[in-house]
Amino acid sequence: MNKKHGSGTTVIHGGQGPYDKALPTDSVVAPIQMSTTFAFDTVEEHQGSIFGDLRYPMYTRAASGNPTIRLLESKLAALYGAEAVLATASGMAAINYTLMHLLNRGDHAVMGRNYRLTHNIAQMILGDKMGVDYTLMISDDVKNLTKFLTDRTKVLHLDVPSNPMITVYDLEEAVKIAHERGIIVVLDETCATPINLRALEMGVDIITCSLTKYLCGHGDAVGGAIISNAKMIKEIRKGLYPRIGAAISPFNAWLIQQGLKTLHLRMPRHNQTTQALAEHLERHPKVARVFYPGLPSHPQHELAKRMMSGFGGMMSFVVKGGDDAATAMTNHLKIGKIGTSFGQAETMIETGWMSHYEWSMEERIRFGLFPGFVRVSTGLEDAEDLIADFDQALAQVEVDKSVELNLENVESDLEWKPVVTTME
Ligand code: PLP
Repeated sequence: MNKKHGSGTTVIHGGQGPYDKALPTDSVVAPIQMSTTFAFDTVEEHQGSIFGDLRYPMYTRAASGNPTIRLLESKLAALYGAEAVLATASGMAAINYTLMHLLNRGDHAVMGRNYRLTHNIAQMILGDKMGVDYTLMISDDVKNLTKFLTDRTKVLHLDVPSNPMITVYDLEEAVKIAHERGIIVVLDETCATPINLRALEMGVDIITCSLTKYLCGHGDAVGGAIISNAKMIKEIRKGLYPRIGAAISPFNAWLIQQGLKTLHLRMPRHNQTTQALAEHLERHPKVARVFYPGLPSHPQHELAKRMMSGFGGMMSFVVKGGDDAATAMTNHLKIGKIGTSFGQAETMIETGWMSHYEWSMEERIRFGLFPGFVRVSTGLEDAEDLIADFDQALAQVEVDKSVELNLENVESDLEWKPVVTTME
């Protein structure tokens, strides 16, 4: 955020520039420019734009982009307090561009308890296609990080709070350990947003974000962004970006820059509602465990209090009775929608079985996704209505007391003891 203004003024007016004007008069809402191509008066001006400072848009998929995309980028730069931003077709495109830019054959990357598809990138793209070694770090404690680093480690990739485990890493400590060894820290900040977490100010080198979620806020546009210093963004923009070709549509860029204008109002509401629901469910007799950094029971509660200005709109919990009970509860919900995305006006629910369907139960448990796991992204509905909805859905769940799962001896590098998911 810029030093002079608060987050509200910044998301509404920050980053406005030449790209929000189509006419000599000011349109209060920026126009959408859907043109794929932009014409120049002379050949020299065209070439000057390519070889010079990319001052003028030239082609929507190219480094020079499109005026509506560049408006979004400049508004995001103001919001994050960043030197530069590159908008991409999706959050996945932002992660792929970043990792493919930073890593070469023979390098090594350490990945935290990240979003499932980030692990897939490690396995399917870094490992299988690029010949990059990687370590998936299940530990939440960055003190253990040194165990996973090698002299070939180039990148540390974290997701804070992680999706769907809602774990929080000590970013300042991680940055210190990484930078002492020349390792670049990349953070997926999709679940936190820059309203709740100011990661660049903690020394993180690159942020990747799915704009599809909170930044857009209305579930109507897919997009992503890479946020970093001007040199890094220029290298990606002029390098892999146009060659892989995952540019965001100007229409999506326009929807997202509109959504951005209420981010500072939506995030505190998501934070408050999630806190209320998490506190309620933690007291519920049919709930074995709740994962939300705003709860004192969360293993990184004190750290999150220090590091974040809000605990976010995502929480997970474990229904006693395992996956059958979680499925039954989810099917009985009336307000929450069963579906995969998050960070929008509608409350969204996804069970561990829905999201991690390709993982074996053993893999899920090792990661912390216990039988009965449910992820909730609270929307902008009234907290009391949501709480009542979860209560009525849980009331209809029969918990099979014979389902006994002893997780005490599960092999895991988690610091905390897994829970037992049966009724007492
Ligand atoms: N990062 C996180 C933490 C996510 O949860 C997701 C999607 O759910 C992504 C990145 C990918 O974003 P997108 O769906 O915009 O590609």
